[in-house]
Amino acid sequence: MVEDNAILKLENVKTYFFLPKGLFKTLVVKAVDGVSLEMKRGESLAIVGESGSGKTTLGRTAIRLIEPTEGRIIFDGKDITHMSDEKEMKMFRRSAQIIFQDPFMSLNPYMTIREILEEPLIIHGYNDAEERKEIIVKSLIDVKLQPPEEFLLKYPHMLSGGQRQRVGIARAMVLNPKFIVADEPVSMIDASSRAEILYLFKSLQEKYNLTFMYITHDIATAKYFSDNLAVMYLGKIVEYGSTREVILNPKHPYTSALITAVPDPDPKNRFIYRKVISGEIPSAVNPPQGCRFHTRCPYKFDPCDKSEPSLIQVNLNHMVACHLYNKK
Ligand code: SF4
Repeated sequence: MVEDNAILKLENVKTYFFLPKGLFKTLVVKAVDGVSLEMKRGESLAIVGESGSGKTTLGRTAIRLIEPTEGRIIFDGKDITHMSDEKEMKMFRRSAQIIFQDPFMSLNPYMTIREILEEPLIIHGYNDAEERKEIIVKSLIDVKLQPPEEFLLKYPHMLSGGQRQRVGIARAMVLNPKFIVADEPVSMIDASSRAEILYLFKSLQEKYNLTFMYITHDIATAKYFSDNLAVMYLGKIVEYGSTREVILNPKHPYTSALITAVPDPDPKNRFIYRKVISGEIPSAVNPPQGCRFHTRCPYKFDPCDKSEPSLIQVNLNHMVACHLYNKK
């Protein structure tokens, strides 16, 4: 049998939140609204967008931390959309882990680093204390918290922000996962530690053939870290392709705006005219008709507020959902 190289497939996944409003009304927040994508083993895919684009909900839905409302999730060849068997779910949880945004909030302040890293191992049936210690020490070495013995008995408040995030990464690694969702993992740590953490991700990815879904609002770090890039806007993917191709040759006006919003370190480019977008992302309760971006798009034309553009292939490994391309 030939092994399927895809580790994750999302097929028209929707994640809606139903919020009661008054006695008889319910508000429906369409956080993720029909996303399909495929990730290959060892790939890093960046999901990029502003707050409210649905990227965090998508990442959590992909690993069933949030239940999808519709669609299918195939992980490692298995349909896990409605998987409920406890044993199977436990196996899946070992394979798919998450690194949270906030290293301050995601670690229990009353537990030592050893206890934090030991907890998932105990839950997953590692009964031998010596074996657990060996795995913990190896994980600390992997995330460059060395010498590991110095960190085992420390509490999170005794570490720097960068060190705490390394503990978060070690916690995700102790169960030897295949797939990691990294949810804004460098947005709350010092700029000086960001590059080091991203470099660490790269080396772990290469060493263990890990697949990363890297969720970020920062297209500059996505450029450094990811092989492929998906741009999300109001619950939909509006552009997808190889990171290099999308960043060098963006097709969607929203992607162009995200790229031009990144400060250019070259002073010569100070006076270059850049088309920026204004306004806030609309509410996912009542997304605009037609193209969801039309309320902010500087290129809006006749069909944009009437019909929704679908994601079409513009060239090899590059797709966009915009009427500017649909009409060609
Ligand atoms: Fe802008 Fe129209 Fe393209 Fe939407 S479909 S991004 S409104 S040009």
